[in-house]
Amino acid sequence: MISHFLKKPCKKLLDFILPPQCINCHTPVFQQGGLCAGCWEKIAFISKPFCLFCGFPFNIQIENENICGPCARKTPLFTRARAAIYYNEASKPMILRFKHSDALHIAPLFAEWLYQAGDELFQQAEYLAPIPLHWSRLVYRGYNQAALLSRKLSKKAKIPHLPDLLERTHRTPPQGDLTAKEREKNVSNVLKLNKKYNQLIRDKHILLIDDVFTSGATVRACTKILKKSGAKQVDILTLARVIKPEI
Ligand SMILES: [Zn+2]
Ligand SMILES: [Zn+2]
Repeated sequence: MISHFLKKPCKKLLDFILPPQCINCHTPVFQQGGLCAGCWEKIAFISKPFCLFCGFPFNIQIENENICGPCARKTPLFTRARAAIYYNEASKPMILRFKHSDALHIAPLFAEWLYQAGDELFQQAEYLAPIPLHWSRLVYRGYNQAALLSRKLSKKAKIPHLPDLLERTHRTPPQGDLTAKEREKNVSNVLKLNKKYNQLIRDKHILLIDDVFTSGATVRACTKILKKSGAKQVDILTLARVIKPEI
């Protein structure tokens, strides 16, 4: 009751001390934690039609054609990958700030976008887990941005969260000019399942969360480990996706 009466004055006081600003460009806005109209306009959300497996967006809808070339040639181990937005000139600076410069105030908005993009995945998932960060990077940054997002999503979707399901044993060597196949090998050599979940994940449906889907090498390596260890299904949900037009 008291909190109800205090809520409005507190919000007004907060708006007075810290006038709401766009979380990306600091233009004044009406509400805390949002984007200004100019920034909203530039964010490109991924929507259907897209590949049923990997979520690759199609420019045009081709009748009965809803699987992309690479997935048609080789069905991915994960069941579905979905992403909320395109990784482009507009979203890149926001995501990099979130990753590297403690711009944690962006997390609630990102989590909301992920929640909407992953709607069908949350309906089936039994556990959520982030793509892991090596502990030395964790010490340096102080947080794993994927774990931060998956924790928020776990609360929203009311699905248990296993932040330490997968572990990185070493730092991943530089990925540089490697091909997707070489990247996958590079990554799978440094990832492992946390032994304490050996039994728990058997026959379970796992939803992996990450910030950016680039070549897909990391999520494929994580999926392989989970499936080998007995997981029934692995889905992938990322905030952004790099779309290379040549695919
Ligand atoms: Zn803005
Ligand atoms: Zn595909």
